[in-house]
Amino acid sequence: MNKGILYVVATPIGNLDDITLRAIKILKEVDLIAAEDTRHTLKLLNHLDISKPLISYHRHNEEVKSDILIEKLKEGQNIALVSDAGTPGICDPGEEVIKKCIEEEINVVPIPGACAMINSLICSGLNTKEFTFLGFLPLNKKLRKNKLEEIKNSNKTIIIYEAPHKLETTLKDLKEILNNRKIVLAREITKIHEEFVRENIDDLIEKSKNIKGEIVLIIEENDNIS
Ligand code: SAM
Repeated sequence: MNKGILYVVATPIGNLDDITLRAIKILKEVDLIAAEDTRHTLKLLNHLDISKPLISYHRHNEEVKSDILIEKLKEGQNIALVSDAGTPGICDPGEEVIKKCIEEEINVVPIPGACAMINSLICSGLNTKEFTFLGFLPLNKKLRKNKLEEIKNSNKTIIIYEAPHKLETTLKDLKEILNNRKIVLAREITKIHEEFVRENIDDLIEKSKNIKGEIVLIIEENDNIS
């Protein structure tokens, strides 16, 4: 029996129109959709008028659910993997089942689309030729210190995801190592309150208490490091 295919499908990061024709086609064709939050994905599927069996696949059940998905793929079922927003695997579940598919020689196919880090970077006005994506900074003190050190010593544009309630603390940590470097804050991309705030760190700290919504920080490269 032929094995099925795992499609890694990007979904919108705000604006529901940001989904490709191919993604819609795949979501209509697969046997099953593995979703980070089935209720969340159901809203998107209803919007697209798609009805499919859903199975949950999130951070806390990745290990177990990966095995179940692998079994179904081996039986020949085609599965679409989606997260709550954007590209699965980018600060979202996905890695585990994808690794197992590769081990089991199951085909993994990307269905490209929205991703907050890429869309914030391209409109930041900062250097897009070379960049480092760090995801969320660690909360653990030692790991965080190491990551901040990495930022300090990098000569590339740095991209970080951050939650609004941690923004001020993160900006203050960045200020300690970067002095007053320029940062672009991309907020609520593709949504009604989409905004790009281009400031130095001091000015951003001033404004940070009033900044709400989903946030990406893009830090200017350090020209002084070669
Ligand atoms: N998989 C997603 C992607 O492709 O970008 C990222 C998921 S991660 C759990 C969520 C974080 O992504 C948010 O805390 C925020 O930093 C960023 N993010 C997601 N959607 C965003 C948006 N519309 N505007 C700005 N940042 C966003």
